[in-house]
Amino acid sequence: MLLAALALAGAASAAAQPPTGPGQIRPRPAEGREPEFPQPSIREYKPRSTLVVPVHLVPRARFPAIDFHGHPPALISQEVIDRVGAAMDSLNLRVMVNASGSSGERLKQQLAAVAASRYKDRFVMFTTLNLRDVGPGSGGRIAAQLEADVAAGAAGVGEIGKGFGLFARKADGSRLKLDDRELDPVWETAARLKIPVFIHVGDPSEFFEPIDYHNERWLELALYPDRRYQDRTKFPAFEELMAERDRLLARHPKVIWVLAHLGWHANDLARLGRMFDSLPNLYSEVGAILYDLGRQPRAAREFMLKYQDRLLFGKDSFQPDEYPYYWRVFETNDEYFDYYRDYHAFWKLYGLGLPDSVLKKLYYANALKLTPGITRSGFPK
Ligand SMILES: [Zn+2]
Repeated sequence: MLLAALALAGAASAAAQPPTGPGQIRPRPAEGREPEFPQPSIREYKPRSTLVVPVHLVPRARFPAIDFHGHPPALISQEVIDRVGAAMDSLNLRVMVNASGSSGERLKQQLAAVAASRYKDRFVMFTTLNLRDVGPGSGGRIAAQLEADVAAGAAGVGEIGKGFGLFARKADGSRLKLDDRELDPVWETAARLKIPVFIHVGDPSEFFEPIDYHNERWLELALYPDRRYQDRTKFPAFEELMAERDRLLARHPKVIWVLAHLGWHANDLARLGRMFDSLPNLYSEVGAILYDLGRQPRAAREFMLKYQDRLLFGKDSFQPDEYPYYWRVFETNDEYFDYYRDYHAFWKLYGLGLPDSVLKKLYYANALKLTPGITRSGFPK
């Protein structure tokens, strides 16, 4: 009787609930048939699209752009600066923020090399924070170094890397949590200096999930051992990190926070929208999450229109031939086109067709507003 009732309840709930698990779709018509040919691996199967639709390649950004998330080679020799500068010219990248932050002498060397170059108005340098072995008194020391670096010419802090939260240990051996009170003087100093704090927290949530055939990033996780955060004895869960981050932001609302990679919420834009709604000084940049915007062009366009004052263009790794994919997603209405990295995304992209007024904010106006020291010349009014 009890068994029958349970079985009945199970059948009823199975019938009432749509199959919603990842990959759980209805049985396929050819279920049970075996392919007659050897099956390709996911790396081998690259079907040619037969779709015939308009194609608009965009080699140069429509408006001069600021890359808020630049990782150029160290800008210490004129040869390197000339090479990066020439690539920027060809892409219509007007300014690059060097988010490979450097401090002390190394910062001064790069500032001097850029100042002596013919691209002197085209780079902005950020400083970095030494977050190793934090213990009592560290906050004050890090804040003092920050103040010295800003006096030397740094225009912001960052990129604070994902090591903060994932890897960095305190002097006592425990994990340095993002909202550790010892660092409060650092954030308060940044708020007082009115400089942006550019922070990368965690990684895509799938990097923290089981590596099975339902994981969207299976290939990337299979290729890169250092992106696997499944071991809870070593790494916090994704949501634990995000909770620390959210407490940090809420405790320092005067800091101009810039979350890298849309806070790893490009797959859940409403979540980032709620953060923007509650934190007026919060901004975010779009580096390395193009695959998420380009697969939801309608929702992403709506989001970018709604939060047009909070979004910054950023690319992350410096590969000049990859920038045009960004221009194409943001500027065109093209459909079903390739992304540049197969292990980020096995799907195609669609253009968002953003209006000029929004492109201008995304490409340069928002970055100009919150970053001191960028020369205004070269940008449309
Ligand atoms: Zn970065």
